Amino acid sequence: MNTQPRTLVEAIRHFSDPDVCQDFMVSLRWPSGTVTCPTCGRDDVRYIATRRLWECKDKHPKRQFSVKVGTIFEDSPIPLDKWLATIWMIANAKNGVSSYEIHRSIGVTQKTAWFMLHRIRLAMQSESFDRMDGEVEVDETFIGGKARFMHKDRRERIKGQARRTSVIGKTAVMGLLERHGPDGHSRVVAKVIPNTSRRVLRSIVRRNVMTGADVFTDAHPSYILLRDEYAHQVIDHAESYVRGLVHTNGLENFWSLLKRAIKGTYVSVEAFHLFRYLDEQSFRYNTRKTVDADRFQRVVGSIIGKHLTYNGLIGATTTPA
Ligand SMILES: [Zn+2]
Repeated sequence: MNTQPRTLVEAIRHFSDPDVCQDFMVSLRWPSGTVTCPTCGRDDVRYIATRRLWECKDKHPKRQFSVKVGTIFEDSPIPLDKWLATIWMIANAKNGVSSYEIHRSIGVTQKTAWFMLHRIRLAMQSESFDRMDGEVEVDETFIGGKARFMHKDRRERIKGQARRTSVIGKTAVMGLLERHGPDGHSRVVAKVIPNTSRRVLRSIVRRNVMTGADVFTDAHPSYILLRDEYAHQVIDHAESYVRGLVHTNGLENFWSLLKRAIKGTYVSVEAFHLFRYLDEQSFRYNTRKTVDADRFQRVVGSIIGKHLTYNGLIGATTTPA
């Protein structure tokens, strides 16, 4: 393979050659070097170089296929160079990228940029990884309205004891942070939740954290049942924020990064799309020690096998922002 680009300018120049894009995609999709038919698996397919397509020798539907088939690029007329440069941008922007910036840098309409961003965010969704273990912080917050973010403690001061009632126009988000993850750095998972009831919070902890792990939360009453399965310790924020290892400061830090990214980059975050932004910010956080070229490889490597149609993406109610 050619030398990898290290900056956005290098990436745009690098992928401006359609043969480079083609070779790059082939190396990702068929690492062994043998191109196989995505429909039937035959490996003696014929390459039509003029059209950059392969043709299967079996007569079945979709016997001609491109390198885009079965990836998030499928059915998209957007050329690969624009896709790959956009992935570079979104993978490596510190605080996220708006559709307007993509539009300006890559030369597609803003609506197209919006669509590309959402497809790429889908690819950035955290893959099923190992459950967390060791020291794990758990916390929840609310995001919503016009991308406004209200700190939980402030909300509590305002709402008094009504912690568990849902906040109008806000979406509840739950975060889990493992302090010393597989690469030695902390990693997060953040999810949209229907409410902050005991049942919901406990089931998410169970799904993501190994039984017996040290779990640190604030004094939210919904966490009380965690003591049955975890070494659960509570920091009551009415008294203090840190007691030795018992704190949720890692997640507080993540919430403030999330807040800054949403405020600084997005005009509005619709509740329907919020989970994608959470995935994007979690990815960014979890790869914060990774160099740009590797982060790009990770995103682009996860595009394979993920396919999202336009209708599935926009849902019934939302419009490009
Ligand atoms: Zn075939």
